[in-house]
Amino acid sequence: MSLLPFTVAKFGGTSLADHQAMLRCAQIIKNDASNKVVVVSASSGVTNLLVRLSQKDVSQHEQLAIVSSIRAIQFNITQHLAEETQLNFQIDQLLNELSEFSNAQSLNYCPRIADAILSFGEQMSSCIFAQVLKSVGVNGEMFDVRQVMKTNALYGKAVVNLELLANNAQQLLTPLLVDKVIVTQGFIGQDEDGHTTTLGRGGSDYSAALLAEALHADNLSIWTDVVGIFTTDPRITEHARAIKEISFGEAAEMATFGAKILHPATLIPAMRKNIPVFVGSSKEPEKGGTRIQQFVESSPIYRSIALRREQTLVTVKSPAMLHASGFLAQVFGILAKHELSVDLITTSEISVALTFDNPTGSTQALLNSTVVEELEQLCEVTVEHGLSLIAVIGNKMHRSNGVGTSIFETISGINVRMICHGASEHNLCFLVDEKQANETVEKLHNALFS
Ligand code: ADP
Ligand code: ASP
Ligand code: MG
Repeated sequence: MSLLPFTVAKFGGTSLADHQAMLRCAQIIKNDASNKVVVVSASSGVTNLLVRLSQKDVSQHEQLAIVSSIRAIQFNITQHLAEETQLNFQIDQLLNELSEFSNAQSLNYCPRIADAILSFGEQMSSCIFAQVLKSVGVNGEMFDVRQVMKTNALYGKAVVNLELLANNAQQLLTPLLVDKVIVTQGFIGQDEDGHTTTLGRGGSDYSAALLAEALHADNLSIWTDVVGIFTTDPRITEHARAIKEISFGEAAEMATFGAKILHPATLIPAMRKNIPVFVGSSKEPEKGGTRIQQFVESSPIYRSIALRREQTLVTVKSPAMLHASGFLAQVFGILAKHELSVDLITTSEISVALTFDNPTGSTQALLNSTVVEELEQLCEVTVEHGLSLIAVIGNKMHRSNGVGTSIFETISGINVRMICHGASEHNLCFLVDEKQANETVEKLHNALFS
């Protein structure tokens, strides 16, 4: 069945924060009939509350307070809808289920229950947004994404089974698109045993890209709170400016290196199927946004600067490493066993420095004392927290003269902890102390983009 052309549209948390914001999103869907699938995040603030609820030591009193804050956020939206009573009933049912999970979690912590808890934000916002669509005359229908988004059981960072997703989506979703606009949840999936899983914080962008791929969509639109992808996070410097057009490769580097605007994996499915991605503001859709595609007109040496906070640097040191084979394999064996993925790596004669993304409140496996103890069986280990990774992103950076000089002369007063250059033609990245991160980005932005 061909429904061409069709778009998968994703709305982030701030776009769904209240009724006004949801109405703007509904209008975007209504104004362009190619929008057939809508992927929603939780309403702004809800997932953060759920993260707290999913942790170990939450008292009964705090649990009640959190559930009631979430209820207030959602009821504040439903009060504007004709189906308020029915929706509130549905939300209360979900919140009862949530409270049961949360009680169980407080008695006996379990990562599987953490994921179940985190999924409620998207479950609620999708029910509500389908009704908001109806209220503007669009035939919206909620679809539980867990019917198609089958994953493994790596709670907090579940891996999607692409083949199952493609088959299920074609079978269960495609027929619905003939006369409906489907509203479904980002961020969540389901493992083989029927347990709910999540794809990692900010994962709704990725869900939307996966669905676009599985359904053979022609476009993917990511609607957020900024008018596109900027030369750097506009919260860091007011001089940041929106980029009209950017290649898949450059945008993928930005996402990987921490530009929060897109979940790191978002562009992988889009690139596989060559699906152009649009990023714009649901608040100001008329201002346009950024188009991400395979071929672009200009490929400047410097395109943007990304910043990722809360990085951990681990240095492993062993004289036995000199001329010995297999040392690195052992180190990586330990990390793989604990499902830890290394971001950057540099080596010297007798030491190796590795960086890890280590965000607070993350539900994924973190670099814990067990890992460190196991590494210590092999070598001397130093762990440093409180670092930020800065990536300057562009084109042919590894073959352009003076790139390193321009960058490091600009920030000569700043202590740089580790540098990686050359592995990708699209970036040069390094670590600095967290406290100097914003200052470093600002200085670089002034020098490279003014
Ligand atoms: P959503 O809830 O819509 O997914 P996010 O908060 O996850 O939105 O991402 C949007 C935010 O990403 C922006 O408000 C901005 O502060 C941040 N951001 C970081 N880097 C960039 C960048 N290069 N361009 C635009 N926004 C960026
Ligand atoms: N609601 C989830 C989060 O806040 C997923 C998303 O917004 O993309 O991380
Ligand atoms: Mg996001």
